[in-house]
Amino acid sequence: MAVLIAQSLSKVYRTGAVDVVALNDVNASFPAGELTAIVGPSGSGKSTLLNLLAGFDTPTRGSVVLDGQVLNDLSEDERCDLRLRRFGFVFQSYNLLSVLSAEQNVAFPMALAGVPHGARLDRSRELLGRFGLSQRGDHLPFRLSGGERQRVALARALANDPEVVFADEPTGNLDSRSGKVVLAALREVANDGRTVIIVTHDLEVAALADDSLELRDGEVFAASHSGESGDALGQPSERPTAGSEAPR
Ligand code: ADP
Ligand code: MG
Repeated sequence: MAVLIAQSLSKVYRTGAVDVVALNDVNASFPAGELTAIVGPSGSGKSTLLNLLAGFDTPTRGSVVLDGQVLNDLSEDERCDLRLRRFGFVFQSYNLLSVLSAEQNVAFPMALAGVPHGARLDRSRELLGRFGLSQRGDHLPFRLSGGERQRVALARALANDPEVVFADEPTGNLDSRSGKVVLAALREVANDGRTVIIVTHDLEVAALADDSLELRDGEVFAASHSGESGDALGQPSERPTAGSEAPR
């Protein structure tokens, strides 16, 4: 059951006199329960691909399909709602709101989604606990280490119980020990049955991934699947969907 699919995806940035072909005819599928690493040199189109998959930007040609729904057919409001409820995001520089505590940062997407106050608080605490941050709930981001901030960001990404979690260089600002903790957490998120897509330079991420997609000059240079069954585009093995998470 592939959740998210890129079909003949191309992106051309028109900047004044020159067109930059950032992506050219990329095909890929991102199955539920698997962690996919998007790798490739700087400028190869990794962030462009992630932004298209997440519906932040629209393709010049081709489409992104989520469970049969073409993202580009949705209005911007509908895409916004879809990102809020079905996608979660982790950024290299955490992107926490500096005036909100860890707990309030995690609760924020739930507030946007209309979750009642008590339920937001309960879920924020549960998620922070899951990532070893029970004692940090009332801390503002400046009082947290980089690794702690990224785990708060991960808890926030999971707040609305998303099907897909996107991470662009999530370990890029972390020391290797904190990076490992964050990666292990992302690995668990995939084991819960979610689709996890990580853009990275980090070879350790690629080692933990079920699939990897290597871009060069905006094209798929290599795709590999290291799962126990199926091929690069094929059948993922059954994954448990029940876990320590709250019910969907
Ligand atoms: P990566 O994340 O792999 O480093 P990007 O997706 O950021 O690569 O960029 C791919 C190519 O598209 C690069 O040549 C980059 O300069 C260009 N590019 C990215 N974003 C824009 C933009 N908003 N406008 C013009 N060119 C862009
Ligand atoms: Mg990038």
